[in-house]
Amino acid sequence: MSVKTKELYKAASRRDFIIAGPQGTGKTDKSNLIASIIQGGKFVCGDVVRASPLLKKLSDDGSLVPDEIINEIIYDGIKESALKNPNGIVIDGVPRTESQIAIIKRLQKEGVLNIVGIVILEGDINKFKARLEARRTCDKCGIVTDVEDAKIKGSKDGKCFMTGCDGVLYQRVDDTPASIQKRINTYFETTAPATKKLAEDLVLIRQNTEASKEIVNRELTEKIKVLIY
Ligand SMILES: [Zn+2]
Repeated sequence: MSVKTKELYKAASRRDFIIAGPQGTGKTDKSNLIASIIQGGKFVCGDVVRASPLLKKLSDDGSLVPDEIINEIIYDGIKESALKNPNGIVIDGVPRTESQIAIIKRLQKEGVLNIVGIVILEGDINKFKARLEARRTCDKCGIVTDVEDAKIKGSKDGKCFMTGCDGVLYQRVDDTPASIQKRINTYFETTAPATKKLAEDLVLIRQNTEASKEIVNRELTEKIKVLIY
């Protein structure tokens, strides 16, 4: 078996996914769910780009970072993550542009990825916005909760409900209505069209995430399992 054939053979046994969805649809949670089903890992674009030493140097210098550099970091990052996780990865945050669609296609062609599905999380945006605006974080222990849940668990006067913690539950700056709306707009202007375009040649899985976590997870698990077994 040639090296190339061997690589392709290996790639064929992996199960990679791409996930997309506007703020508040539970993307992190659902990525974790899919990663555990495929017994693989995750590539979270924002985290990887932020952690890049090259990018840090450029932004420290005050340079405007060209798309080509971001794309290079994305290409290398996905490849590294895929090699570390032979069962598959869940890619979150890519593609957002035409050139990022090309990166995914190139990695498919090179036998690095074997994308079996593109998951788009969706539902009533206003419900997700309300969910995000109600989100609270403890300034001491860091637990993430929401206004209602905190009350049920015994929070009084905006204080944390965890035993032994006297922290205050606060709203993160990026959970304010204006900030949430901005990220939702960006999603519909860049990520949604790019993801749908890439999905033209692949299997698209739509998942409404308005229902309870239990119901949504059960539905999504069934859809994923159909594709991987
Ligand atoms: Zn706390």
